[in-house]
Parts: sequence; structure tokens; C-alpha cells
Amino acid sequence: MTITAPPEFEQVVARYEPVIGLETHVELGTNTKMFCGCPTEFGAEPNTQVCPVCLGLPGSLPVANKAAIEATIRIGLALNCSIASWCRFARKNYFYPDMPKDYQISQYDEPLCVDGYLDVEVEGQTVRVGIERVHLEEDTGKTLHLGGATGRIHGATESLVDYNRAGIPLVEIVTKPVAGTGALAPEVARAYVTELRDIIRSLGVSDVRMEQGSLRCDVNTSLNRPGDDWGTRTETKNVNSLRSVERAVRSEMLRQASVLDAGGTITQETRHFQEDTGDTRSGRSKEEATDYRYFPDPDLVPLAPDPAWVEELKAAMPEPPRVHRERLREQWGISELDMQSVINAGAVELIEATVAAGASPDAARKWWLGELARRANETGAELAEVGATPAHVAELQRLVDEGKLTDKLARTVLEGVVAGEGSPAEVVAARGLEVVSDTGALTAAVDEAIAANPDVAQKVRDGKVAAAGALVGAVMKATRGQADAKTVRELILSRLGAV
Ligand SMILES: [Zn+2]
Repeated sequence: MTITAPPEFEQVVARYEPVIGLETHVELGTNTKMFCGCPTEFGAEPNTQVCPVCLGLPGSLPVANKAAIEATIRIGLALNCSIASWCRFARKNYFYPDMPKDYQISQYDEPLCVDGYLDVEVEGQTVRVGIERVHLEEDTGKTLHLGGATGRIHGATESLVDYNRAGIPLVEIVTKPVAGTGALAPEVARAYVTELRDIIRSLGVSDVRMEQGSLRCDVNTSLNRPGDDWGTRTETKNVNSLRSVERAVRSEMLRQASVLDAGGTITQETRHFQEDTGDTRSGRSKEEATDYRYFPDPDLVPLAPDPAWVEELKAAMPEPPRVHRERLREQWGISELDMQSVINAGAVELIEATVAAGASPDAARKWWLGELARRANETGAELAEVGATPAHVAELQRLVDEGKLTDKLARTVLEGVVAGEGSPAEVVAARGLEVVSDTGALTAAVDEAIAANPDVAQKVRDGKVAAAGALVGAVMKATRGQADAKTVRELILSRLGAV
């Protein structure tokens, strides 16, 4: 079968209806692991945070971590789920070298939280994403393949296993299939993961950093012709950023459409997202639930959260991000449309923190949505990873407000900050970028410009104030742009008696 070139996205959504689903894993920030007392700190020496339980040694017995159960219930409540009054852990059996027990303790047909929803905003529409389940499980260890060029097993000369991560509590959040979003499907997927991340962060139960793997996302996608049953879905893994979530859905829709257009069928399989090319590649064929031979874990007692405790947790829930954003919008005095640009840029918390560091809301918004958003776009980075912090931006704006930097100079300073040259003050000092505010030096430069352009100077003296622009330009050139144009102009006009 030959696969035709990918048709345009608009044509795809005219012929097919996408159905998406998202499975998100969140590593909880508990002090200890899910079923033992080992610490969970990131970045420790390999295999130093292990014990007989998380190494799966014979005779060891797991005990569930209450803080992890509490965090999972709070996530479930934030996602409008029902909390099970009784549920169990199950063994998911499969072999993987970084999983020492050769089964993972998870939850199967009795999850802790079920049947919720999350509303997300996409292009002014509210889309309700159904939540099928929120369950609790344990993470696996990590395998490192050494000696090869790519860090993959192919070409490696040896493989090492680090069990520090084995047994860290993981929450899995599974959506119901999301249909009817058409061309918006990729954006809905991204908006959902963004909103989910913000909610979990507001609960303080995980740092939800995609690039560090504490939030991981698998994206299910299928296409069907209008009126037909839903198509066969594929599951895309390795989706490591919000932007990639959107790209993965889009590229999988394009790929599946070209297969279907050519009369082919979609194979149910796991695919891997390729960060560099933005497309997906075939992985293993997808296991069915029966392949895992689930059964209730006989080593663990069932979970039966006290309804009074659940009510207590419910009463203590923090302000949801949506409500929080609305409050910020009012404080900042901006329109809903402007707020939407802030949200789309992923800049809400950055601007909030910049304002907290002393900048005005307008100035904070200007930097994050202007210069810094442009840079993030150019490099494909998330705004928060662009290299400048809210404290940097607030400091930069303070220098502008104090008259030590012009807007133009400030942009140059920001370049230095983003390049890792230090704080704005350090960049100013290192590059000698401070505004020439020494009136003596400035007056000398103005007088030189007047002397060098007698005709222009005469015009200004005769009342043609607009001609002063040429003199301002000459002074700015002489001071290498480090003078404040407004001050220069005032100085020129006063020297020429035009004010
Ligand atoms: Zn342990």
C-alpha cells in the first residue's frame, strides 16, 4: 500500500471526525514512596533511595502512603469526580527490567476517583472534557543505556538500572473519549493538559514539570468518517511539552487520514512522538488489558476513605485556577480577550510573579507577551524556560522607570539576560549599557550635533520644530543609542531657544 502525501489539515477535518483521549501521569511530590519509607528526592546517587519493598525482595510487604491517597482524592475532587468509598490496588503483570517485582501495583477496575470532568476554554468556547478515572499506582525505575550515540538501547554497550524512582507515587488521570471538537482537537488536547497542570499545581501535590517527567502525557487519537463508528485509535507516547501535545494530535490526524484515504486501515498501536520532526513513529502493538492479568493485590488492604475525611478535604480545596485567573484579570484591569492572550502564551503565573516582584501589570504583560514571547516562539521553548525570570523582568522595568535604561536599551539588556549573562543590573554593568544621563556629556553631544548641522539648527530656530529629529538622530548616534531620546530632544529645543 502506498501512503499518499499528508493532506492539508483543513481537508482532513472536512472529511473525518477526530476523537481524542488523554492519559496523564503525575508524579506526586510526597516525601516518601508509595509503599515504603524511602525518600523521593530527585537527582540522588543511583540506587541510594531503595529498600527491600521497592526492590521487590521476597518477604517484603507494602504499606500504602496516606499522603499519596490524600493527594489523589484532592485531584479527583478538583476534577469533579466521585470518590470511591471502597476500592483496591491491583497487580498489573508485565516484565520490565526497571520494575523489580515484575508487576506494578496499580488500580484496575476499582479506581479511587471516577466520572468527573474538566472544562477548558478554546477560542472562546468552553469544551467539557469528561474524566473517566483518577487512580493511584507506583512509578518504575529508570534504565540508562550507555555506549551508544543516542542513549537508546540500540548501539548501547551496557545498560544500567537506577531504582530510585521505583515506587514513587504516580497518579494516572484518564479522560473519556472527546468527540465533536473537529479542527479544534489539537488545541483542546493542549488546553486540557495545560488546565490539568495548573489545577494540580494549585493543589501543591506535584511540581508538574513536563520537561522533568513529573507530568507525562499519552495522547490517543482516532478518525472516523461522519456517521461512522469511531475509528481505531493509536496511543502516542513521549509527548514532553504542551506544544508537543498539540503537535502530536495534529500530526497523527494527518497521518491517519493519509492511510485511510489510501484505503488502508489503522493499526491499534503505541507510537512515539518525534520532537525534531513533529511526527509520530510506530512503536509496539498495543497490549489489551487482558495481557496484564490484573488481580487484586493480596498484600494490601482495601482503601475505604472515611466520607467525613473526604468532606474535610473538599471544604479545604484551594481557589480553582479559573477563578484565580478571573480575579487576576480584574486586578490587572484587562479585557477577557487580553487575558486570553496571556493564558494562551502560558504567561499567567509569570506575569503574576513579575507584578509581585514590583512591576506594574501593564509593564509585566508588555515584556512577557512581547519580547520574551517572541524569543520563546523562535526557539520553540515554553515561556517559563526562555531564560528570564519574573524577578529579572521586574528589575529591568525598574531600571527603565528610574530612567537608567531606555526601552531600546532594555531590550538589549534582556538579550543579555536571556543569554545567561546575569541579572539586568549585571548585564548593564558588563556591557556598559546605562543611559547617558550625565547632562554635561549630553549637552556636549547636543552642541556638537548643532555645530555639525547648522542648516537644520537654523530651521529649528526659525520655528520648524519637526526638523529637530535629525539632530536627535545625530546625538543618539554619537551616544550609541544610550541616551534617552526624549531628554535629548528637550535639550536640543532649549539650546536652540525653540521652547
Ligand atoms: Zn523503598
